[in-house]
Amino acid sequence: MRPYDSQNIFAKILRGEIPAKTYGETAHSLAFHDIAPQAPVHLLVIPKGAYVDLADFSARASAEEIVDFHRFCAAICEGLNLTAQGFRAIANAGLHGGQEVPHFHLHLLGGAPLGPMLSRR
Ligand code: AMP
Repeated sequence: MRPYDSQNIFAKILRGEIPAKTYGETAHSLAFHDIAPQAPVHLLVIPKGAYVDLADFSARASAEEIVDFHRFCAAICEGLNLTAQGFRAIANAGLHGGQEVPHFHLHLLGGAPLGPMLSRR
């Protein structure tokens, strides 16, 4: 597993060093609007703990953190009416996954048809 870089931009958001447009938070998770939205709804949901990606979070986070994260995602989807029309959840990881920020985050996208999952090369 890659080591966690505490200088990544989401760690700075969690420490309050840079601003973010917060949607909501729980004891263990934070949701905020992506700075470059790719859909009418584009939120990023992150754990407050230091995890590099989905695999790291799933392997090391406590059951409480994992439940908190997923229940929060469910509440967000309900709150934004994403469940009725559909949405996409994306977790990029590492080099091949095109992950830019090495703090685990789930993109929640919706509000319009999103097209194919991957663009064809
Ligand atoms: P990923 O490629 O999965 O690591 O996605 C990183 C996402 O973080 C991109 O969609 C960026 O637009 C978004 N992003 C980068 N900096 C910020 C920021 N300061 N506030 C909100 N979103 C950001």
